[in-house]
Order: sequence, then structure tokens, then C-alpha cells
Amino acid sequence: MCAETGTGTCTDVDPHGTVAPASGAPRGPVRTCVGCRATGPRSALLRVVAATTSGSPVLVVDVGRRMPGRGAWLHPDLECLELASRRRAFGRALRLQDRPDESAVREHLEGQATAPGAPVPTVDEGSGLEADGDPMSTLR
Ligand SMILES: [Zn+2]
Repeated sequence: MCAETGTGTCTDVDPHGTVAPASGAPRGPVRTCVGCRATGPRSALLRVVAATTSGSPVLVVDVGRRMPGRGAWLHPDLECLELASRRRAFGRALRLQDRPDESAVREHLEGQATAPGAPVPTVDEGSGLEADGDPMSTLR
């Protein structure tokens, strides 16, 4: 019983209840990486489209995933880019006549190589892993 209103409800009941997001495997569209050929959720892959400037195709990272035309999907990983480049997967996926210029994609990946959560490549450069003096200089 509510002492102040007398008749009203004292506790507001949320009609939606507690919306618990389905925790677990993310559902949704799945894409195949043109590099390693593994599948992954659409949100985890990078969309790459070809922009033809003056004849020769240039690969562009479709950050917003809304550019028209064909798109190729790639893990945000330089290794996958290498794989795709070696087997000319972009040309096939995007139906290109010529080998596209993928430097923009490479730059994009290199620019985000230090993003948290990115897979850390195992680089064996001796045993200097412990000697991390300046945390701000870990760009590479
Ligand atoms: Zn991949």
C-alpha cells in the first residue's frame, strides 16, 4: 500500500522486464574472408570495394559498409591481406580485370595494427620482450 497516493501503484513495473541480451554466439550475417577463407560475423570483417580511378582498380576500405557495388570481405589482419593478395582473391571476388592496388587497404590495416583486441603476431626478435621501457612507443 502506498501511503502517499493511496490508490496508485507504488512500484512501477517495467512492461519490458529485464531485457537480457542473448549472450553467447553472435547471430547474424556471416561473411567469408577472401584471405584465409574462414568465416566470421559481418561486423568482424572489413568490407573492401574497388574504386576505379582512371582505369586501374584501387581497393578501398568500406568503413561504413554501405558503399554500392561488389564487396570483398577481409579480416582486419595483414596476414589475410597477404593471403588475398597472393591468390589474387580481390580480383576474383570483385570481378576485376586487372590486379587492384591494395595499398590503401594495407595502410588501413597498418594504421589500426595497434588497436586493442587485435591479434598480436608472434614476433621473435630475440628476448627483448621484457624490456618495454616506454609504453607510448609501442606503435610497432
Ligand atoms: Zn582472414
